[in-house]
Amino acid sequence: MSKVLIIGAGGVGRVVVHKCAQRRDIFSAITLASRTKSKCDEIAAEITDIKIQTAQIDADQVPELVALIKREQPQLLINVALPYQDLTIMDACLETGVDYLDTANYEPHDTAKFEYSWQWAYHDRFKEKGVMALLGSGFDPGVTNVFTALAAKKYLDVVEEIDIIDANAGNHGQPFATNFNPEINIREITATCRHWENGQWVESPPLATKRLFDFPEGIGPMNIYRLYHEEMESLVKHIPTIRKAQFWMTFSDNYLKHLEVLQNVGMTRIDEVEFQGQKIVPIQFLKALLPDPASLGPLTKGKTCIGVIARGTKNGQRKQVYIYNICDHEACYQETNSQAISYTTGVPAVVGGIMMVTGKWHAPGVWNMEQFDPEVFLAELGPMGLPHEVVEGEWPEL
Ligand code: NDP
Repeated sequence: MSKVLIIGAGGVGRVVVHKCAQRRDIFSAITLASRTKSKCDEIAAEITDIKIQTAQIDADQVPELVALIKREQPQLLINVALPYQDLTIMDACLETGVDYLDTANYEPHDTAKFEYSWQWAYHDRFKEKGVMALLGSGFDPGVTNVFTALAAKKYLDVVEEIDIIDANAGNHGQPFATNFNPEINIREITATCRHWENGQWVESPPLATKRLFDFPEGIGPMNIYRLYHEEMESLVKHIPTIRKAQFWMTFSDNYLKHLEVLQNVGMTRIDEVEFQGQKIVPIQFLKALLPDPASLGPLTKGKTCIGVIARGTKNGQRKQVYIYNICDHEACYQETNSQAISYTTGVPAVVGGIMMVTGKWHAPGVWNMEQFDPEVFLAELGPMGLPHEVVEGEWPEL
């Protein structure tokens, strides 16, 4: 029985609290801390069968974090604040000797640069201290890493190519909104695209490569666009037989039209501009205008389908396998007051936490998801709300 401290009371934080509260066999006490305490209290009030403690924290400040951790004495800290806070929270975990888990890699404020180098640099210090950090335990990154590890363990002898494909076939009826934090989401989508090919990263303009993909289970054909996504970096490092890795995401024409206009007028800029004697960052101003992703929960209908097509060889023969999850926005909302994007991120965070506190996945140091046994994780993920399908077949090269 473990005490867990959750940092970040946003869309994902809400799901993490609901799901930890469902596992009282694992989590004996839960504290939720975030920048705005009233948001923690609002989430805590939704849980009736266990009392959720709440606290205010500025997670940019290591001494504040250290004081909170010393007061709460958790066994595990789940970081679902923003990627900007990853390093300060890791510093505090290191100082206090508490295990750490997050769902997105560190990003500095001033450059939309997605790479693990900053967090991997903590490996030796975590190892020496006997503390564990599990990076990227959301869906993508997260479950997509686990699906790739499953393909490598069970279905293919050699994984040569992966296509990670993320479809949101849901509709919230808003003219323009993002499904998770708008600032983080738009920084990711508008960044230069990179994919892995023959041992190197190949750059192309953002969203410039488009394909049509026929999604399973009634979702049907949708346009997918190639993006850079952080799990490719750890996957090609830890599964070095992968010679091509691409990440694809669906966007509606309407979404892309709005995004193009916002980019053209400078509203997605991440640098400071002078406005009426004050410095503002346009993308942060845009975030204040856009719908709060949490408000989309009751409005969103339809499904998500996120998965990996892994291609390679088995017994010397060419083979392909598609491993995916389908998740329903309305069912997620009924269960946790959140839509499927927050749900598909929050549930794997809790399952990653269960792996750590039960010792099924535990080793001092800083780790990515594909470095542990995928089957024990997936055995817990299905019953926790995210089952997966495995289909062997043929898919056109993307
Ligand atoms: P939200 O913006 O909804 O929530 C972020 C929360 O963090 C807010 O409650 C915010 O506080 C809090 N926060 C921000 N800065 C600080 C700070 N300095 N100190 C304390 N708390 C702070 O984001 P989401 O819930 O949508 O996303 C959470 C994380 O999940 C992000 O890192 C995101 O990148 C990641 N993610 C990962 C995915 C995956 O599949 N791997 C998919 C989707 C998201 P306040 O309420 O005051 O603003």
